[in-house]
Amino acid sequence: MPQLADSEEVFNQSPPYVDVDLYASDRPLQEAVAANGGATQAVALGEFGCSWGAAGMFDLAREANENPPRLRRFDPRGYRLDQVEFHPAYHRFMAASIAAGLHASTWSSDLQPAAAPAQVTRAARFYMAAQIETGHLCPITMTRAALASLAAERSLANLFGARILARDYDSRFLPWWEKAGITLGMGMTERQGGTDVRMNTSRAERHGEHYAITGHKWFMSAPMCDAFLVLAQAQAGLTCFLMPRFRPDGAVNGLRLQRLKDKLGNRSNASSEVEFADAFAWRVGEEGRGVRTIIGMVQLTRLDCAIASAGLMRMALAQAIHHARHRIVLQKLLVDHAAMRAVLADMALELEAATALIMRLCRSFDPAANDAKEAERARLLTPAVKYWVCKTAPAFVYEAMECLGGNGYVEESLLPRLYREAPVNAIWEGSGNVMCLDVLRALAVERDAAFAVLDALAAETADLPGGTETGRSIAASFSRAGGEWHARAAVGRLALLAAAAALRDSASAVAELFARTRLHEPHAGLYGTSDIGDAELRLLLDRALPAG
Ligand SMILES: Cc1cc2nc3c(=O)[nH]c(=O)nc-3n(C[C@H](O)[C@H](O)[C@H](O)COP(=O)(O)OP(=O)(O)OC[C@H]3O[C@@H](n4cnc5c(N)ncnc54)[C@H](O)[C@@H]3O)c2cc1C
Repeated sequence: MPQLADSEEVFNQSPPYVDVDLYASDRPLQEAVAANGGATQAVALGEFGCSWGAAGMFDLAREANENPPRLRRFDPRGYRLDQVEFHPAYHRFMAASIAAGLHASTWSSDLQPAAAPAQVTRAARFYMAAQIETGHLCPITMTRAALASLAAERSLANLFGARILARDYDSRFLPWWEKAGITLGMGMTERQGGTDVRMNTSRAERHGEHYAITGHKWFMSAPMCDAFLVLAQAQAGLTCFLMPRFRPDGAVNGLRLQRLKDKLGNRSNASSEVEFADAFAWRVGEEGRGVRTIIGMVQLTRLDCAIASAGLMRMALAQAIHHARHRIVLQKLLVDHAAMRAVLADMALELEAATALIMRLCRSFDPAANDAKEAERARLLTPAVKYWVCKTAPAFVYEAMECLGGNGYVEESLLPRLYREAPVNAIWEGSGNVMCLDVLRALAVERDAAFAVLDALAAETADLPGGTETGRSIAASFSRAGGEWHARAAVGRLALLAAAAALRDSASAVAELFARTRLHEPHAGLYGTSDIGDAELRLLLDRALPAG
């Protein structure tokens, strides 16, 4: 009988973090959902949390990312294909997200915004899905957001609406009218400019009721979507168009996929470079008002960037706490070492704030169409929240990785994938500086409304440490002329103030702690450096992940 080598005896390793109820195990999420009108949906959200937290979903996510999509440009005889092949695991995620309505549940059947709390409950699901697999959420978020812009062209919205809203995922490469359900993407970024889309060189030539577009896009994600909102120069200037993969006569449209991006993360999802060769498209909105038309879509994708980043943070923190509760170092569990507890609890506090902040922001989107105050809040805070949450995620995930020590640095631990995924939400749909400048733009264009939001936040946090002073300092920064150079500092503080206000609504037990360590005292930017007492540390960890 071969002897078992000493090294084969495995002990003191944390068990896999799988088969978790992503909702029931996340008290800050439950409280934030309840505080923002979603309490009645708790059972359904629990069911979603159980099914997405199953061990099989973790496995599928690994497969989808270990087997990235492949571009097939030509068939064996040299005919163009311009198709992307995805691993079956990717399709499983698409089907699951669409069945759950992540791509459309914030719209009603008549293509109006769905009644509250549609945004909040969908965000809770999106947040849980992002913890498991984020790549496929790219077409999911673009599809639900596209309806906001498509609404500008009622006939197109009617033509495509029912298939967009359908809960059926249909991955076949067929004309949209032959499919049960369809997805939408967007193409704005060109080689010479992504932020500055006015530099777009793609040209649109009018042919009666439709246009022919010639040009390119440098980043166009999820190229197997059934149609794309794209920007191109028409006679009256930059205009928004809807470009289907198939022309109305049934021929494949002129979208030539040149290559797929070799990305840092987001590997289950395809992002393409594409040439448009006389591609058929319909105009969406008026000629020359392309940016204004597509901004409705962009606003919603920015919101989803923040939700997905918070989801990545959640999975990273849960992995870290879980590990620290099982790993013994120097005769005691890691979580019982004061220095480790301080790190984990400080991270838990940051994530509580991010969770409360995004859910409160979603509440503003819920009735935003009918409530001017909430709409103004959404306008000012969306770029600030995207900026702060998406910028927080990479460093947060890295810190969680370190909590797992060497195990955190190897692929099987999941942390490397979360880490590679984290920066993309900050970069796309308006990078950090662009978000801060967008807040300044809101202040310049709708000054009274923006300052009213700031006043409201200051009033909501007046009894919290540092609330009033932070409100004043933000107002002073925003009142200064030529404010671009300190925009990041002011917008960062704005997000923190809004987070404290959101926590006060949803998790009063930690609102004071957050305000004390983020508003009253400057945070060092490294986790474990806040002055938090031992009872508070334990409270934060219990709230973050129940032991057991
Ligand atoms: C994985 C991935 C998927 C993507 N998918 C899509 C897609 O599906 N469709 C699509 O259209 N695009 C997509 N993009 C492109 C993305 O939206 C752009 O990369 C992004 O908008 C930035 O544009 P840019 O790359 O041209 O950078 P630039 O516009 O050149 O910006 C570079 C840097 O300059 C900063 N900056 C810009 N303007 C200012 C200013 N006035 N003051 C100070 N700083 C400034 C920016 O914040 C940024 O940090 C994707 C990108 C990635 C990484």
